[in-house]
Amino acid sequence: MRIPMVLPLNEGFLRRECPHCERQFKVRVQQPDDVLEEHELTELELTNFCPLCHEPAPANTWWTKEQIEYQNQVTTAAVSDELHGMLTRTFAGLNQPRGPFRVEIERNEVEEPKSLDEPHDMIRVDPPCHQETPLKIPVTWGRDVACFECGIRYPVDVIRVEG
Ligand SMILES: [Zn+2]
Ligand SMILES: [Zn+2]
Repeated sequence: MRIPMVLPLNEGFLRRECPHCERQFKVRVQQPDDVLEEHELTELELTNFCPLCHEPAPANTWWTKEQIEYQNQVTTAAVSDELHGMLTRTFAGLNQPRGPFRVEIERNEVEEPKSLDEPHDMIRVDPPCHQETPLKIPVTWGRDVACFECGIRYPVDVIRVEG
């Protein structure tokens, strides 16, 4: 059972949260002029680096708490639909027009997952080693920033993109 899930982007950037320091930042996953401001996720067997605390972690561990909550809601809704369909089909044979009894399957009310917001609240930095993966970090950040792909560190003022 494949559960499709799309996450909102901001200028092609996806919000991420470090599993070590729990700070949030954004990584560009799409060209900004792509019309679709949504991202369907593919899990890669990679290690990435937190731009803020510089610690490495596997590529599938950078979910924000809000994204995990959203994933749970999407999964619950999809499983509930699937289950309802399965039970309805299972009992369909019992519901003969003049049969002795009827079985009706009530569908549990599952809250429709609310899609996530993607506010513009960070500044952009472009690590020169991986220019195809620019980042966005909190406006107030003053310490070194590590490249998400390879972990090389730069003073924030050196790689900060003005504008
Ligand atoms: Zn971190
Ligand atoms: Zn790099």
